[in-house]
Amino acid sequence: MILSIESSCDDSSIAITDIKTKKLIYHKKISQEIQHSCYGGVVPELAARLHIEALPKILEETKEYFSKLKAVAVTNAPGLSVTLMEGVTMAKALALSLNLPLIAVNHLKGHIYSLFIEKNEVLPCTILLVSGGHTQIIEASSFADMKIIATTLDDSFGESFDKVSKMMNLGYPGGPIVQEYALKGDENRFDFPVPLRQSPNIEFSYSGLKNAVRLEIEKIGELNEQNKADICASFQKTAVAHIMQKIKKYFKKNIPTNFAIVGGASANIYLRTQIEDLCSKHKTKLHLSQLKYCSDNAAMIGRVALEQYKINDFTKIEDIDIQTRIKVFK
Ligand code: ATP
Ligand code: FE
Repeated sequence: MILSIESSCDDSSIAITDIKTKKLIYHKKISQEIQHSCYGGVVPELAARLHIEALPKILEETKEYFSKLKAVAVTNAPGLSVTLMEGVTMAKALALSLNLPLIAVNHLKGHIYSLFIEKNEVLPCTILLVSGGHTQIIEASSFADMKIIATTLDDSFGESFDKVSKMMNLGYPGGPIVQEYALKGDENRFDFPVPLRQSPNIEFSYSGLKNAVRLEIEKIGELNEQNKADICASFQKTAVAHIMQKIKKYFKKNIPTNFAIVGGASANIYLRTQIEDLCSKHKTKLHLSQLKYCSDNAAMIGRVALEQYKINDFTKIEDIDIQTRIKVFK
């Protein structure tokens, strides 16, 4: 079995995965959304303190499996430095004391492998990663060969939902809240400009849209519930229209056999529905993670670790480092 740890942002999570069967033997996550909600976003220092409390609490429950462990895996990039350090320090201590090899896992590969938890992988696959920190199109040919072919110039898709929510004091994380408000709103009331509409490149940008929403909110002044719902609906429509325009551009040149949406914001129903339509039109098979594995979790980190374990991709305890950003997939 492999024990995996995730602490890259505001979720403390540990999983135990069986190497032979890929089955999840144990999985637990303690989220910090409530504690960060009043700040309208994650406060790194607070997140780190909460990991210090939560991770040992979860680890305690996994003691019965310690004798069966063959490796310890941990997210080491990308993420918040102070929170990554919590998981990495715990993983190092465990590997050292139990005399086990250490596996350093790329969190973004984790989001991709959330598709394949307790399953075999389906590759090649083109992946739309939409999370709190990333908006990328990735061509995943094999475990070792993944290329980022489009990314965001500024904010990410999920982050723009968080910021719009914060502007109206609706709470954190903004994604599910804005999606819920949007259901009661008129998506045609505000005509927000679709970002990079004229650009021939496949790339994303959300800061302009965010500012357009901010200006509209300032113009209205005192917001009633209907104003909030209409802003959410109009913003969501535009945010998704931007992604869809770029994905359609991608499909014009390459119709993938397999396509997937991963990351916390892949839970967005409005986006899922439109991607479903596009894929069915092109006879592309669409893969989606189970909703419970869309946001950060250690099960996806354990699933990646299975692949690394197979090829002896271990990191020496003294060599493991954290990285807040990554430019290429490793
Ligand atoms: P990264 O993985 O890039 O380091 P992260 O781990 O913080 O970032 P995730 O946990 O994958 O991000 O996803 C959280 C993000 O997903 C938040 O920005 C949240 O608002 C967004 N999100 C969650 N549900 C929805 C939804 N239904 N619609 C839009 N966004 C959503
Ligand atoms: Fe994440």
